[in-house]
Amino acid sequence: MAVEVALERLLEMAAATPIVQHERVPLAEAQGRVLAEDLVSTLDLPPWPNSAMDGYALRLADWNGETPLVISQLIFAGQSPDPLAAGTCARIFTGAPIPMGADCVEMQENVIVEDDQRVRFTQPMACGQNIRPQGQETTVGEQVLGAGTRLGPIELGLAASLGRASLGVIRRVRVAVLSTGDELVEPGQPLGPGQIYNSNRVLLCGWLHRLGCDVVDAGILPDDLAATRTCLAQLSDVDLILSTGGVSVGEADFLGIALREEGELTLWKLAIKPGKPLTFGHFRGVPVIGLPGNPASTLVTFALLARPYLLRRQGVQAVSPLKFQVPAGFVWTKAGNRREFLRGRIENGRAVIYRNQSSGVLRSAAWAEGLVEVLEGRTLAEGDVVSFIPLSEVLD
Ligand code: AMP
Ligand code: MG
Repeated sequence: MAVEVALERLLEMAAATPIVQHERVPLAEAQGRVLAEDLVSTLDLPPWPNSAMDGYALRLADWNGETPLVISQLIFAGQSPDPLAAGTCARIFTGAPIPMGADCVEMQENVIVEDDQRVRFTQPMACGQNIRPQGQETTVGEQVLGAGTRLGPIELGLAASLGRASLGVIRRVRVAVLSTGDELVEPGQPLGPGQIYNSNRVLLCGWLHRLGCDVVDAGILPDDLAATRTCLAQLSDVDLILSTGGVSVGEADFLGIALREEGELTLWKLAIKPGKPLTFGHFRGVPVIGLPGNPASTLVTFALLARPYLLRRQGVQAVSPLKFQVPAGFVWTKAGNRREFLRGRIENGRAVIYRNQSSGVLRSAAWAEGLVEVLEGRTLAEGDVVSFIPLSEVLD
């Protein structure tokens, strides 16, 4: 199955079970959350015309090109000025309201202040120059952000500029993280024969926190059917069970058996590398996504499939990471029948890749700045164009 097809199906399923409950949170706690309501301005922004410069406000018609104008008032930001007296100018600072009657601000660098505190304007001036008009950014009643927008520092800054102290956001998605595998041991424990440390658990839990999810850390699940059933049964109150491992073909697949017995299982063989096997289904109605166990596969399938799914559950429309075209700084001679997402970097404007692209090598991703997409059936010469998805696009 092509990665686009799998993504489309996952997004359809996400849209069919949207999380609609919302809550009101203070701005400072809204980072990473999804807006549950349109943000409509109740203000003109700016609320009044103001000066874009430190300089002098005047009525252009009062200036004959020669005669200096008397300074009749001083206006700082935060003050409320008097109307401009005819035939005068006002000393004004950036962000201060334009006095009624003025229609132009000249920057201080372009004037000469005479000894008697009259101001000589030395450059041609235009009506409206250096004035930020009322409502330049937004006007009352205008929608500034739509429901389904993910809130980052910029959106929160915008909400603050409109005077909002809190926002209605979709409640956090509750995600249970399960690491399957008899070979897994938590860091801090001694490593026995045949054992490896569990890297996916902390990788996924940390990532999910960055995505604003409520994480239920369900720990390590042994490769055992009874334990799998018991564990899944305890996770009835989550929105998604996200497991890793145990989906390789040929392995005793206890997660799959449990889903078939008490829910539904779809096993997809994705045409991507790393990350071929992916499970989607539900257990007693709770959606389950089973990612492959190799850490680089976990990373790629989480970034490209599970993350968009989680965002769409919250009503986010823009779930696809930005990718851009760059020339390859490497050669690729063996055309694959799966789409490859190589861990790479940009060096001197070209995409280069980590020397070992094994799906077990997480170090490749730590070294990388992004995923280099090599299409099915393609070979590459240096300079051929490839797509590059920055990891920063998907990490939160
Ligand atoms: P599986 O999908 O269970 O066959 O796992 C594929 C590979 O990923 C095996 O080499 C596993 O040992 C490894 N693996 C599975 N889960 C984890 C994990 N949580 N942390 C590190 N490696 C894992
Ligand atoms: Mg396993």
